[in-house]
Amino acid sequence: MNLQPHLDGYLSPDHPLSPRGLFADLPAFIRPLVTPKLTTIWEQDTATLPSALGRARRRYRSFAEQELRHRALPMDLAPHPQPGEILPSLADLLKTAGREGMLTDLLPRPLGSASLGAYRYPLVWAQALRCEELSRVCAGQMLLLSAHSLGVLPIAFAGDLGAMRRFVLPAYRQTMAGDPHIFAYAITEPSAGSDAEEGHGASVSRPGVVAKRVNGGWSLQGRKVFISGGDIAKSITVFAALENEGIESWTCFLVTSDMPGFEVVRNELKMGMRASAAAEIAFHDVFVPDDHVIGKPRQGWAINRATLNASRYAVAGMGVGLAQGATEAAIDFARHTELAGKALVNFQEVQLQIANMMTETSAIRGMLWQAARKAYVARQDRSSMCKFHCTDRAVRVVEMALEMMGNHGTLHDSCVEKIYRDARLTQIFEGTNQINRLAVIEDQQEQLLARIERH
Ligand SMILES: Cc1cc2nc3c(=O)[nH]c(=O)nc-3n(C[C@H](O)[C@H](O)[C@H](O)COP(=O)(O)OP(=O)(O)OC[C@H]3O[C@@H](n4cnc5c(N)ncnc54)[C@H](O)[C@@H]3O)c2cc1C
Repeated sequence: MNLQPHLDGYLSPDHPLSPRGLFADLPAFIRPLVTPKLTTIWEQDTATLPSALGRARRRYRSFAEQELRHRALPMDLAPHPQPGEILPSLADLLKTAGREGMLTDLLPRPLGSASLGAYRYPLVWAQALRCEELSRVCAGQMLLLSAHSLGVLPIAFAGDLGAMRRFVLPAYRQTMAGDPHIFAYAITEPSAGSDAEEGHGASVSRPGVVAKRVNGGWSLQGRKVFISGGDIAKSITVFAALENEGIESWTCFLVTSDMPGFEVVRNELKMGMRASAAAEIAFHDVFVPDDHVIGKPRQGWAINRATLNASRYAVAGMGVGLAQGATEAAIDFARHTELAGKALVNFQEVQLQIANMMTETSAIRGMLWQAARKAYVARQDRSSMCKFHCTDRAVRVVEMALEMMGNHGTLHDSCVEKIYRDARLTQIFEGTNQINRLAVIEDQQEQLLARIERH
């Protein structure tokens, strides 16, 4: 018998009892119903997407392979740049990403680069797919590209068409022409991380960045911390409280890096996603003219919450991509590493672990896509559920990869060591996973109380 290559303990695909040939003798009209095409899980999942999103997913994957793969490990090891500097390789990446439409896909063509077909589906779905594919290869570079979209979202959610025309469209044109105009999003303050993400904390928090009314505009004073891309952004959507008021007065201001009094203080030396800097930025009486208020004064809290509700799907997508990357690295390791004269992948314990990793990854992808496919309105309960569950399970998948890889998994060139550090951050930003659990309860409060009363 001509035996095709197969794993120990399994039948060759051409064995009469193997699932591959099993249905060959059934009637011709039944065969297509029971004989699946031989294909990867990735292809199977892509085939379930609407065709425009399927095409987008393939484009994201090939962009990640061509542009991110070769930079992933070197950029992780590169020294953190000083504020205002950008590593030449990352500057090139931004230019290429800009020309390829990766930085302008919040708007459809011709204003941005999203295809009209993809634009028919919830925006958060396409964004989650993009984050998944880029994170699979390098979550640091993914964050460098995606934090920019986060910076633009408040302008969209404010429904401020004037600000879109004045700030976003010219920036998009510049970016698509190969001169990236990067945005960043600034809510976190030294004494307000979770407080900027959750209503109860916000209600008792003392705002650190304050806007004082002055002739023709506002004067901003204070500091924001951990701002992704804050070191290179030309435009930053900054949330500030009005003088002598609390976070309920939060107003969103478009601050540009050339405004006098704006300072990038430092970049944090953080554990993962190192291709994207987390910057501390300071406002020393920065004058912001009235036409740089996004939406209206006091709409900032609403705009912030709408932005987070949408962007948490994207963070869930990062989790899925990181889990996928770890699974693939573990499979490669198992195929190429020998124990007692045979490849690790032939051991049943290893196969069980691989099956678990593939299934966990598939399960969180399914959860995310199921929620995102109807998310024309981004819901707080669903987006927070996806955010904390997908990222928590992703970290578990990465741990399984590390367990399988032993010593090798701890080495930088295993890739999984980096994936672990990157994945751990997704449990912290956009609200810690504890805060996201509370966000589910906050959003379901009335339903929970009604249920308690009924019983
Ligand atoms: C890589 C990275 C990138 C980031 N990018 C940005 C960005 O672009 N823009 C931006 O504005 N911010 C950004 N952040 C900040 C991020 O969103 C905050 O770090 C995050 O919200 C957590 O805030 P914190 O660190 O101040 O934690 P804290 O709020 O100090 O929380 C500390 C601990 O207390 C817990 N906790 C807090 N409140 C409660 C509560 N009520 N009940 C139960 N537990 C609670 C938390 O879960 C956590 O375990 C980034 C952070 C990182 C690490």
